[in-house]
Formats: sequence, structure tokens, C-alpha cells
Amino acid sequence: MDDTKSPWYCVFDHLIPLDPRTIVLTSALINTIKSALSEDEFWYMIEQLDDFKRKGKKIKKINLAHWRQHVFASKKEGLPYKKRPIWPHPQDKKCDICGRPVFSLQSKYCLRCSHFNWRMEHKGFSPEAMEAVREYLRANGYVCALTGLPLEMKDDRSPWYCVFDYLVPGDRSSLIVTCALFCEMKSDLTIEEFWYYIRQLADHKRYGTPFRKRTPHHWCRLTAQELRMKNLRD
Ligand SMILES: [Zn+2]
Repeated sequence: MDDTKSPWYCVFDHLIPLDPRTIVLTSALINTIKSALSEDEFWYMIEQLDDFKRKGKKIKKINLAHWRQHVFASKKEGLPYKKRPIWPHPQDKKCDICGRPVFSLQSKYCLRCSHFNWRMEHKGFSPEAMEAVREYLRANGYVCALTGLPLEMKDDRSPWYCVFDYLVPGDRSSLIVTCALFCEMKSDLTIEEFWYYIRQLADHKRYGTPFRKRTPHHWCRLTAQELRMKNLRD
């Protein structure tokens, strides 16, 4: 109840995202993993992720009722996917990432990859980290690095929209691509910790197994005071 930086710090959660009428108590960590999901959607995604990890089952996407509004409310990136005219060009100049025809003779990339690359550069990652991502995309295509799920490349309000995440929270050399939803659910967790909590939650839901805490090593929440200072600096 006292340490605001603890993953177990008591927080209020909207049971239905963005709906202030029903508030429940939970811990900062679980609240973060719940993201902008309703209670049913949350348990559905937990079980889907757990089945994927444990049994290799494919994750089934569902419509998430509150996600778009959530993105709208917390939108920071604000980079619309721009359609550019596509001129006729020699089909033999291929995109450096995916092998489709490039969209202009001056570009190394097709329209999709060009937009993706631009987003990545805009964020200021290191050249090595960005090249590692391109290498991943050449080998795997645009699929989530955590789950193999195909990523949405155009609709930035989709829960499946392709976003960047750090494999190890805060380590800027460990860049991966995942979808907006899983990125929020993973938050400050390492991949190993993320799957640990998915399993804990799934077991709790299915069998009533008591939830076992484990300290997330990179958990980082600023106090209200620190947040103000940071905002002032930025
Ligand atoms: Zn491409």
C-alpha cells in the first residue's frame, strides 16, 4: 500500500476500459497486463497466450471492444500511413526487406517496408538494432516475435498493429517487433517473466492455483513527483 514503485502497489482499474462506473482494486503489474481489455477479453487472451506457449496452439484473434478508443485516447505516435502514388517501374528492383517491387526507383523498399523503416528511424534506434530487425523481417516476414502472429501494418488503431518493443526492457540494442496489444501486456517484463505471468494467470483462471509473485527485474514506475520532473525536462 505504500511503495508506489512496487509491481504490487494497489491501483484502481476500470473493469470496463474507459468506463469510470465500475472500479476494482488490483496491483500495478496485473493492471498493466490487463491493458485496455475487458475482463472477459483479458482472460481470453491469457488463455490463448498460455495455450500458444505450452501447446503450440495458434492464437485466435478476436475483436477487442475497447482497444480503438484506448489508442485514440492515448495516441502518441500519430503517424498516418501515407498512400503515395505508385508509378510504373521496372519489376526487377526488389524491396531490400521483403522482395516485393520497390515503390519508386529511388527507394530501397516497397511502400509498406518504407513506411515501417521510416517509423523505426523516427524513433532513433541504433543502426545495429534496426538492421537486426530488418534481418528478422527478411527471415520471418511481419510476424510478432513473441507469438508468430501476422502483424497489421496499416491500421495503427488495431490491437495487432506492428510496434517496436525491447526484448529486455530498456535495452535499446534488443529491438523486436510485436503487436500493440502484446507490447502493452509485456510492459516492463522480460520475455521469460512475461510467459511466467501468463502461465500464472492461466493456471489461476483454470485451476484456481494461487498466484505466485516473482519480482520483475526491470519494473519501473515513476512516482507522481518524478513524472512531473520528467515532463518538465522533456
Ligand atoms: Zn518490402
